[in-house]
Order: sequence, then structure tokens, then C-alpha cells
Amino acid sequence: MKVLVPVKRVLDYNVKPRVKADGTGVDLANVKMSMNPFDEIAVEEAIRLKEKGVATEIVAVSIGEAKSQETLRTALAMGADRAILVQTDDKVEPLGVAKILKAICDEEQPGLVILGKQAIDDDNNQTGQMLAALTGWGQGTFASKVEVEGDKVSVTREVDGGLETDSFTLPAVVTTDLRLNEPRYASLPNIMKAKSKPLATKAPGDYGVDVSPRLTTLKVVEPAKRTAGVKVADVDELVAKLKALGVAK
Ligand code: AMP
Repeated sequence: MKVLVPVKRVLDYNVKPRVKADGTGVDLANVKMSMNPFDEIAVEEAIRLKEKGVATEIVAVSIGEAKSQETLRTALAMGADRAILVQTDDKVEPLGVAKILKAICDEEQPGLVILGKQAIDDDNNQTGQMLAALTGWGQGTFASKVEVEGDKVSVTREVDGGLETDSFTLPAVVTTDLRLNEPRYASLPNIMKAKSKPLATKAPGDYGVDVSPRLTTLKVVEPAKRTAGVKVADVDELVAKLKALGVAK
């Protein structure tokens, strides 16, 4: 079974985002970019499926500017077998990404597509669901456990009241939650080996997808600064303050 893993290049999660002075977006000039953390978890899960003998090939895909190659090389160094870069300088919205992934699914016929539950730049949490709708495949979102048996996958998901386990037929779409696994670091020999693994470069047009934006960003602003808290001496003072605010009786 082939596993397709879409990986996005995003602002590194350790970097504090700075909003551009003109309010048009987040400043990405000269800041560290990395693979979206949920996508690292997706790559790790695909590798574990391969180690278990369930998956036979892992194909990493990224849609974005030329530098997304670095993200794909990271996936290859972790253990993916080959990569596809769909190169564009346009900012591609989730629907555009999902349409390109659908076309790649038609071509590659994967048994499973494992995506992150969300990309931490825009926090959309849409692409996996849209891909499932476009392909008509079953979807298991926010997976904390994935098990493949025969032509079925069962996905344990974190829901408000606890855990829910769903089972559906392959091919299917799964999106990862934080607790699914802990991604491995790529070793130096594997980083070297990744340089010679195949990486195909395509364009959105090759898949017949128009990626022109349907959304307009009106303004991006920093969150309001939190006002300083007040230290209280004891519980009595805390209760008195809460009463004054009408929060306690
Ligand atoms: P989103 O819906 O934007 O929050 O993204 C959810 C997931 O879709 C990500 O974790 C990735 O697995 C995948 N994805 C989104 N955008 C891209 C992209 N440009 N290239 C590759 N994968 C993407």
C-alpha cells in the first residue's frame, strides 16, 4: 500500500510571529521555517506503517515555493521514499491544496493519505476534510491511534467527551493529532541519503488546478496585549474581589 503524506513549510513553531507593519500578513523574511509539526507526525506514522510491513511506499508532497524542497528533503531524510513538489509562489488556500492532492491521488492511487490536522500558520484545519470530500473517501480526523488491517483502517480520535474509534474502508484520509506519536529526528547518514532520493517538480497547472485565491485578507493584527494581573494576599481578599466583580456570592 502506498501512503501519501502532504507536508507544508511553515514558520517554525518556536518563532514568535511578527505582523508586517502594513497589516497585510505575517513577516516571513529571514525567519526560520520548518515542516508543520502535525505533518512531521504524519510522516512518522507513515514510516511506522512501513516498518510494520503495512505500507510499501511513502510519497511526500508539498505545495509551495521552491524552498518547500527543504521540507520535502526533511521528509525524505526521516524515511519517505520519494517526493513531489508542486511549485508555486502563490499562497494556495486549502481548497486549492485539496484539489491538487485529489489529482495526485488519481495519479498515485494511495491506500492512505495522512495529513496534519492543521497547518500552524493559518490554523485552517480544512485540507484533509476537503480532500476526503473531493475523493469521496472515508476520513478519520484528529487521530491519536491508527491501525490498518486488511482493507480497513481504524482511527481513534480525540473528541470532547473522550476517545472515539471509527473503522472505515481504504482508501482513506487521516489527519494527525499531537498524541499520535513522537516523530523521529533524521540521522546524518539519512540526511545525506535523502539528497539522492527522487524529487519531482510540478506546477499546479500540471494538475489542471487554478490556485487563484477566493479569499481576501482584510487585515492582520497582533493579539491585544494582556493586561497585568493583580496579586492577592490571601483567599479572603480573592473572594472579596470576586464578590465585587459579581463572580462569587
Ligand atoms: P490546513 O487545512 O491548512 O490547516 O492544513 C492541514 C494539513 O493539510 C497540513 O497539516 C498538511 O498536511 C496539508 N497541507 C496544507 N497545505 C499544504 C501545502 N501547501 N502543501 C502540502 N500540504 C499541505
